[in-house]
Amino acid sequence: MSHVMNTYARLPVAFSHGQASRITDVDGKEYLDALSGIAVSTLGHAHPRLVAAIAAQAGRVLHTSNLYEIPGQDRLADKLTELSGMQEVFFCNSGCEANEAAIKLARYYGHKKGVETPTVIVMEKAFHGRTMATLSATGNRKAQAGFEPLVSGFVRLPYDDLEAVRNVAEHNKNIVAVMLEAIQGEGGVHLASSEFLQGVRQLCDENGWLLICDEVQCGMARTGRWFGYQHAGIQPDIATLAKGLGSGVPIGACLATGKAAGLFGPGNHGSTFGGNPLACAAALTTIATIEEDGLMANAARIGALLRRLYAEGLAGLKGVREIRGHGLMIGIELDRPCGELVGRALAAGLLINVTADTVVRLLPPLIFSESEARELVDRSIPLIREFLAE
Ligand SMILES: *Cc1c(COP(=O)(O)O)cnc(C)c1O
Repeated sequence: MSHVMNTYARLPVAFSHGQASRITDVDGKEYLDALSGIAVSTLGHAHPRLVAAIAAQAGRVLHTSNLYEIPGQDRLADKLTELSGMQEVFFCNSGCEANEAAIKLARYYGHKKGVETPTVIVMEKAFHGRTMATLSATGNRKAQAGFEPLVSGFVRLPYDDLEAVRNVAEHNKNIVAVMLEAIQGEGGVHLASSEFLQGVRQLCDENGWLLICDEVQCGMARTGRWFGYQHAGIQPDIATLAKGLGSGVPIGACLATGKAAGLFGPGNHGSTFGGNPLACAAALTTIATIEEDGLMANAARIGALLRRLYAEGLAGLKGVREIRGHGLMIGIELDRPCGELVGRALAAGLLINVTADTVVRLLPPLIFSESEARELVDRSIPLIREFLAE
């Protein structure tokens, strides 16, 4: 009997080591990694530059404290603000923590404006994390069940429905922010239209609300732009990052600009580990490698190739609803629950994922090559065909 708390239905495999887009289990079997530990391993496994940077930093100092200055944090904040169009950064360790910071920031902003019960608009099918506030912001009743009372101060609306947001703007004077993913990940790889994102941006401006973009999954160059919101040409007031930021070393970030910047002072928020020297070294190296090796363009190119090859290979197949995504964030929606495919792919040496019951989700590392993309398609399409034929 395992003494690990039973919070995951784990697949019966343990990995021993990896190299780029391949990972090997403890029995020596090799897998093609089309999941990256859920959009985390940006540079794949054992990237020499990242390994060297982590080792070098570990040999100097792992952790000091946010009680002291941390030069790596300053450099990382400079870089992230430059890439995102934001002004300042709070560092933490995970996506839910970044979103907690964002929600606190929105409430703080609301109180400063004299709104007594600041309320945040959130979306159906959203995923923002598992802490109490982020679970309450998440649009999945199954994840919330049993954990009531939920945190109040959220209003939920359908995704990609501008009329719904406009309607709330007219009636609810407690709204201080809209929180959304430009591309919903856990919810099933759903893309918001640019018109929706631009319309929400405009409603936020007209009403003095903050726009919070949760970029934890769709950020960090995965979609072929640094951030998902950049496809719509908008600038949020708050953006949150984690997953791919440290390429496997835990780090999260909450970025703010304009009305959302300069609000927090000492004592308003904090984190023991957040942005420690090791995590910042990993994130700086991740970003430098994405830039110098052209991995953002690679994500766009390989992602488009994957979508085209799947569209060709699955054309006319009954049971395939839609193939969608941006860059290396890809969803293949089937007409039935297909969680079984994950285990079958594993047996066949492929790491893939199924989310929202019916959506095969692919999140390969940004170093994924054209030949690996072709191999993934050639090896996974027979599994999908067989499954749908049963
Ligand atoms: C994974 C995810 C989170 C939660 O991140 P954790 O690091 O697991 O807390 C939040 N938002 C989005 C969009 C995510 O994909």
